[in-house]
Amino acid sequence: MCAKANIEEIFAKNVFTVGKMKEYLPEQVFKEVMQVREEGGELSLKTADVVAAAMKDWAVSNGATHFTHWFQPLTGITAEKQDAFIKHPDEEGRCLLEFSGKELIKGEADASSFPSGGLRATFEARGYTAWDMTSPAFLKEDAIGVTLCIPTAFCSYKGEALDMKTPLLRSMEAVSEQSIRLLRLFGNTTSKKVTASVGPEQEYFLVDRDKYLKRQDLIFAGRTLFGAPAPKGQELDDHYYGTIEESIGSFMNDVNTELWKLGVTAKTQHNEAAPAQHELAPIYETANIAMDHNQLTMEIMKKVATRHNLACLLHEKPFTGVNGSGKHDNWSLNTDDGINLIDPGDTPNENIQFLLVLSCILKAVDRHADLLRLSAACPGNDERLGGSEAPPAIISVFLGEQLEDVVRQLVETGSANTLISGGKLKTGVSTLPDFEKDATDRNRTSPFAFTGNKFEFRSVGSSDSIGSANTTMNTIVAESFAEACDVLEKAEDFGTAVHDLIKKNFTEHQRIIFSGDGYSEEWVKEAARRGLPNLPTMAEAISALTTDKAVALYEKFKIFTKAELESRSEVLYETYSKTVNIEAHTMTGMASKQIIPAVMSYAKSLADTVNSMRAAGVEPEVPVKMLKQVNELLSEMQDALEKMKDARKAAVGISNQKERALTYLRTVVPAMKALRDPADKLEKIVSKKYWPFPTYADLMFEV
Ligand code: ADP
Ligand code: MG
Repeated sequence: MCAKANIEEIFAKNVFTVGKMKEYLPEQVFKEVMQVREEGGELSLKTADVVAAAMKDWAVSNGATHFTHWFQPLTGITAEKQDAFIKHPDEEGRCLLEFSGKELIKGEADASSFPSGGLRATFEARGYTAWDMTSPAFLKEDAIGVTLCIPTAFCSYKGEALDMKTPLLRSMEAVSEQSIRLLRLFGNTTSKKVTASVGPEQEYFLVDRDKYLKRQDLIFAGRTLFGAPAPKGQELDDHYYGTIEESIGSFMNDVNTELWKLGVTAKTQHNEAAPAQHELAPIYETANIAMDHNQLTMEIMKKVATRHNLACLLHEKPFTGVNGSGKHDNWSLNTDDGINLIDPGDTPNENIQFLLVLSCILKAVDRHADLLRLSAACPGNDERLGGSEAPPAIISVFLGEQLEDVVRQLVETGSANTLISGGKLKTGVSTLPDFEKDATDRNRTSPFAFTGNKFEFRSVGSSDSIGSANTTMNTIVAESFAEACDVLEKAEDFGTAVHDLIKKNFTEHQRIIFSGDGYSEEWVKEAARRGLPNLPTMAEAISALTTDKAVALYEKFKIFTKAELESRSEVLYETYSKTVNIEAHTMTGMASKQIIPAVMSYAKSLADTVNSMRAAGVEPEVPVKMLKQVNELLSEMQDALEKMKDARKAAVGISNQKERALTYLRTVVPAMKALRDPADKLEKIVSKKYWPFPTYADLMFEV
């Protein structure tokens, strides 16, 4: 069978799509479901019962035995509690299947074991999951069997968000509402809704599972905490877009098949820059569905890897010295009737609209650069951002030569009458030019780049949920659209007012535009001169979430209450501290139980050699030298290990979350590095026979 026919046959096979709803539901019920999906509101319990019964019939006919409310708590991964479709057997002992409307639309989960950052007092442990009707139910097939998964939002008893999904949905409504306001100003009367569309490119590493299982750091921390560089890294650029090895291709083939069955539009696959690194990109879709699908993608990758005796590493920096992994979050705003607000368009009128949108986005990113930075903060990303391979921790916007020049002209002269790169100028409105999509330099060093008809936020970490990033983008843009509409709706002369506003936005926020080398030291200095925030680590970025500015923003658009923001910041601090604590513990175990004993065995063999050579009457110059070197590094290691243990103990005892996180950052993280250094030097000199676990070369070059 050719591949195309196959995709057509299996695509969304395991999804309760609109098409399947139409087939399984009575016409009236189907209409009601579609209406609620599009316009919001709630299904009546009677309707929900019909939908649930149909969903169950479909699921059971496809082999399902269980259902689950599938949600995304603040752990960054997904959670589920499965229930079988059975109900109490009847008098004759027959087991009947049941799935009620109530079970479909609302679930109750004990929330006490999920992070809530103090939002949920222990006496209020109840949490609720509510069906996100805009994301379709699907069947998960694995060794457990077939399970009907209902994508849900997860809230506390009082309705406070305990997950990644709820705020994203709230932010999508906010940006839709403000975008429609903005479109109306330009005479658009037809668009009803604006959707944030997202295409997340997912990077990952694959290593041999047997080797993976021999490394405690990979098992517990998801990244190597020790390891000398392999003789070869990525310097030859021979892995990027290189021919895909059969073993990897076979993994990709299975991942694609699983994803297609789940309706995930897995499209692009290739080898990435680092050895053993790869990428998968789907076709973009509505933000909340893109988030669900990205979580599924990560889950499927891990599962399929195991089946292939591989381990999929989603950590942002599994290996020091080669590229880490990110998730480029491609984002745009699209109306229900097919207009992309981020597209420069073909007519001058659209150009003005586009320039206003662009100026508002620049304003949003400049004003909330700290929040955007925070939205990509996760412990692993500290190892990646600013490492001269990923965007720096300083947020800036790349516009491309042509657009940047238009902005410059507008700021300097109040009009822009010429286009670089020879594009023709349509002067429908003399002060604002028509221009073409910029196809010039792509500047991979920029964290937030305009790429033709979308923005690409490149700071997000590979293991992270895309929820925060998109919630932040939607909200900050909703705010600056709202402010623009407040001015323009009142304007007597719209043409002049819009022109002035575009100029004002660009003038006030041009400092956020940067097209140079984001990896350079000069940029760090220049950014400081411009007053742009530089928040190199997660622990330092978290306070952005609870500033007065952030509270005002999120409360205005009903995304988060102050209490929800405070709880989220607690969760983030806690996550950071716990992650570093696990890493330090893991290093302690590896150093004291594996590396130091191995080095001592090697030292013994050297000492034995020294003795036997002496007994044979030869001066053992080389073994003596080697033994001394090993001995010195061993002392250094032992000393560093004790210091790291002390630092960890001191940090873990601090009760204030923020203070604890900052202590981990400032004392434990450097102590971990001090322990790693002598260990990596030892790895280079100790005989391979003695080294207790697979090396970088084994992991990255023998997959
Ligand atoms: P790259 O060259 O950076 O790899 P692509 O153009 O292939 O980028 O697109 C990368 C991702 O961006 C894909 O997931 C794609 O579907 C998504 N994408 C393309 N256009 C848009 C858009 N208008 N809005 C959001 N995402 C988009
Ligand atoms: Mg890209």
